[in-house]
Amino acid sequence: MNNIYSWQQETWRILTQDGASLGHALLLRGRQGIGKLAFARQLAKFWLCQTPSIAGHPCGTCPSCTWFEQDSHPDFRQVEPEAVALLTEKRGGDADEGGSEEAGFYADAGEEPTGPKSRKKPSRQITIAQVREIADFLGVSSHQGGYKIIVLHPAESMNPAAANALLKNLEEPPPLTLFILVTHQAQDLLPTLRSRCRQIPMPIPDPATAAAWLAQQGVGNPAACLASSGYAPLAALEFDDGDYQARHKAFIDRISVPATLDPVTLAEDLQKSDLPTLIRWLQKWCYDLMSFCTTGKVRYHASRLPTIESLAPGIDPRALSAYLRTLNASQRLAQHPLNPRLFLEDVLFSYAESVVRPPADSNVRGNGRMIHAD
Ligand SMILES: [Zn+2]
Repeated sequence: MNNIYSWQQETWRILTQDGASLGHALLLRGRQGIGKLAFARQLAKFWLCQTPSIAGHPCGTCPSCTWFEQDSHPDFRQVEPEAVALLTEKRGGDADEGGSEEAGFYADAGEEPTGPKSRKKPSRQITIAQVREIADFLGVSSHQGGYKIIVLHPAESMNPAAANALLKNLEEPPPLTLFILVTHQAQDLLPTLRSRCRQIPMPIPDPATAAAWLAQQGVGNPAACLASSGYAPLAALEFDDGDYQARHKAFIDRISVPATLDPVTLAEDLQKSDLPTLIRWLQKWCYDLMSFCTTGKVRYHASRLPTIESLAPGIDPRALSAYLRTLNASQRLAQHPLNPRLFLEDVLFSYAESVVRPPADSNVRGNGRMIHAD
């Protein structure tokens, strides 16, 4: 990717004007799927470029730009959890920041895996070992005699030990060091870490700009894809897939009519699906139910407003809010459930319970199914 997105022009201008006011640590914060990582990489490329253009862009042809594009720049490091790095590789090195499907997995805040068994699974955290490598990298002098730049993405995936180790690096970095932290969840970063960075709120395009950009990328129905992604255009690209849209539609069809919702059959039908995706769909659906109950607005399912409206009277907001919290935990479990069918059944039974208030004098669920202790 050689250019920044149109909605990032002003932020770009501010951060490329002069090195003196740049600072040594930037925190690019904002919603997932708006192009933060691509921006961070382009910014790094610019400050490393030997002959940037007068207009303020990397030249794309000097040795530095060439190394950068070949991922072999000696003065640049991109630090990511192993799992995210693998994903980027799988996508042919496209520097986007993952679409909706990965959203949950960045939020994984579990313990850092230890021991030989865990070596099978790529880590979802930035580890202290990776941060120590940064210190080693900063310890040797710059190859070009200019900047040394480190992009950390997503910064919230640093575990506490890694974050504390990074703090030391941020306290007294060598001159001409630039850290660029990219985060979708700035609130999850250590406050001491946040306070040592210059915070850059990354712009979100207005819906018209985003839709125009998506149309340029050949997306057939920009408005619908945008709505599904919560108005994050890069994430919206993920929704431009006929099969994906059809599966999503079928799923929402089946959970949006509580009278016919049958967790057992549904769990059986869907047990081979990508579970984190299903949980993500449920999260967005329940988010909209909750949002409608409290504010009368929805974010992801505008086309299903009449259905949501009809469900609202049967919803207990407190129960739904509690269910939304359990879905966050389910998102983590969805990566490796012991039994996918039972996992889904459990999630869907709880959903039916939260969305359809059971009659006060009965133990019959909203779908007409009796509750069994097992
Ligand atoms: Zn260049």
